[in-house]
Amino acid sequence: MLLKMNTIYAILPLAFATAVTALTKHPLVMIVSFDAFRPDYINPKTTPHLAMFKKSGVSVPYMKSVFPTKTFVNHFSIATGLYAETHGILDNYMFDSKFKYMHCSEEQFHYNNRVVPLWLENEFNGDERYSGVMMWPGSEFSYLGKKPTYIGQYNKSLKWTERVDKMMTWIKNDKRPSNLIFAYFEEPDFLGHYYGIHTGEMKEQIVRVDAAVKYLTDSIKKEGLESILNLIILSDHGMESVKYKDLIYLENYLDTTKFTNISSGTNVFIHPNPNTYDEVYKNLTALAKKLGNFNVYTRKNMLERWHVSKNERWNELIYLLAAPGYAFKDKWILEYFDGRNLSTAEIGVHGYDNLEPSMFATFMARGPAFKSNYSIEPFENINIFPLVSYILNIKQTGDHVRTNGSLNNVENLLAKNHGTSMLFYNNILLVAVTALVHIVRVKHC
Ligand code: AMP
Ligand code: ZN
Ligand code: ZN
Repeated sequence: MLLKMNTIYAILPLAFATAVTALTKHPLVMIVSFDAFRPDYINPKTTPHLAMFKKSGVSVPYMKSVFPTKTFVNHFSIATGLYAETHGILDNYMFDSKFKYMHCSEEQFHYNNRVVPLWLENEFNGDERYSGVMMWPGSEFSYLGKKPTYIGQYNKSLKWTERVDKMMTWIKNDKRPSNLIFAYFEEPDFLGHYYGIHTGEMKEQIVRVDAAVKYLTDSIKKEGLESILNLIILSDHGMESVKYKDLIYLENYLDTTKFTNISSGTNVFIHPNPNTYDEVYKNLTALAKKLGNFNVYTRKNMLERWHVSKNERWNELIYLLAAPGYAFKDKWILEYFDGRNLSTAEIGVHGYDNLEPSMFATFMARGPAFKSNYSIEPFENINIFPLVSYILNIKQTGDHVRTNGSLNNVENLLAKNHGTSMLFYNNILLVAVTALVHIVRVKHC
């Protein structure tokens, strides 16, 4: 039986598309984070692509962040499946155990050397698994002496479309194709801090995120990856507006020379000078009672459900947490308010209790591993680690710290037959089509 040439021409592009989409032999997952993107920003009018993505795939009304609701803390929880007390990043800006300032340092991300992010666990599972990480907080460091195969260094000025294009080259690399990608985008957090959540500037960033999602999903389609790529779109935490009149100036009430502090708006670490601990603690608790807009904690009375207290870095610190809608004055906040009308201007903050609705995060996913048009109850972001590990068919290796999450909390998101992925069918199709083309060629000779 001879196939006509026009039939062959019809088959060839299919064979080519299949070959392009079958680069990694493993399931393919991409996790994309838009910093501080609140789930209630999604709206069919202003964010049509996100709304469509949410509807067609799996989603939750919101995802619960870990406490404190800060960027490095939550991105590392998503990457490691661990609460803050176990991975050790208690805030973006914090003290080390000798009360030395830490921010974005190797030391900050290595509280425990057996904590291994998923992008490396993927590679430790071997069998030609390669990870790519675009600007995800913590990805600039090695863990157990190893970095992922592909890294995009943190660089806010790199265009979002260029980041997406770069990630596509990692997936399509013909020698070391990625099967797992993590990507971080800094908005709508960055400008959200300047302008709060109710302004035109913020709306622009939300629309910009929607355009990025369109560019990303269009690129996935263009590369023929739609049927094999599992795309997770999420955020780390929410955002809340604060007015100038609701700033807390500790120095107006206390002798602030008695301690050193690191404040990041909603949360403050206080390190009392030698022999002043009891006095500073007593004065702070009295002030909290008087003002009623913040609470005072030590390692001993932190809430159990925050999963933060079992960490050696607390080391006799006193910790302040502002009530929702309030923030402690710090140099960044004063910069944000600088030159604006102080009776109307708002800024944005996050870091409050993770049960506070304004701190809720976003989660939605689409791809062969997931159900379609389906939503489940909210879950905590530490469960993403076991979810993605399961999809990738990988296990935690060696004596690496085991995740605090559980697949049981999220397995309802998975499609029934996700074990036999589209990739499997694609590979069979590729073999069949290649064989067919070969037979036809032989007959023509
Ligand atoms: P925050 O809003 O204080 O929780 O911190 C988030 C900010 O950290 C974002 O505005 C990012 O621009 C910034 N950021 C994110 N990743 C990095 C990184 N790897 N190095 C330095 N800054 C970063
Ligand atoms: Zn953030
Ligand atoms: Zn932020």
